[in-house]
Amino acid sequence: MTAKECFELLVTQIHVTALAAVNGDGLPVSCIADAVFADETGLYFLTEKDGALCKCLKSSTDAVCSGVKSEDPANGTAVTVYGKLSEAGAELLPQFFAAQKYLAEKYPDKKAVSVLCMKADSGEWKALSGKERGSFTCGAAEPAAEPQAGGYLVTDACIGCGACADACPQGCITVGDKAEIAQEECLHCGCCADTCPVGAIEQQ
Ligand code: SF4
Ligand code: SF4
Repeated sequence: MTAKECFELLVTQIHVTALAAVNGDGLPVSCIADAVFADETGLYFLTEKDGALCKCLKSSTDAVCSGVKSEDPANGTAVTVYGKLSEAGAELLPQFFAAQKYLAEKYPDKKAVSVLCMKADSGEWKALSGKERGSFTCGAAEPAAEPQAGGYLVTDACIGCGACADACPQGCITVGDKAEIAQEECLHCGCCADTCPVGAIEQQ
């Protein structure tokens, strides 16, 4: 899933998320917040104005948001987004209430609501079945992800046969003259390296 797809999942299907940050004393604070809108830079949330997290938000604060789409606890999808959280203006409330009809019932007093904005830096998603997972970074001109320790890299010994792409359970290998692994989607399972006939995939 891309960043945009993860944001859409949070806003259109998960709705209710756990939002956490660190206060000025270095202590963790969290709240339940509704993910109500997303754009290319990140997410907007509504939460109760007098909550602990709102009280500690003096300026842009490192924060994390997590939500799970699950009717079946074994087969849902969990999404986590990391970024900088700050308060946004109440002038956006009419737009959010128009887009998310359930908000009018949940927050009958708009004055008791805070709008929070998270500029997203990165995130990750995971199928609760454990079969699929991935991560993303946000912002323009992100360089291609490098393999992390334990990840796999295709060397110049590759002959472009495509066997690794066929073996990859994630479908995250593209093959031209040489195979290329989309590192942000790789599970580090090693199936590609085990399959390569010329030993062209090395673990980092
Ligand atoms: S390690 Fe597994 S998931 Fe990653 S590219 Fe190789 S086969 Fe695909
Ligand atoms: S299996 Fe090995 S040689 Fe074939 S495309 Fe993949 S990396 Fe290249």
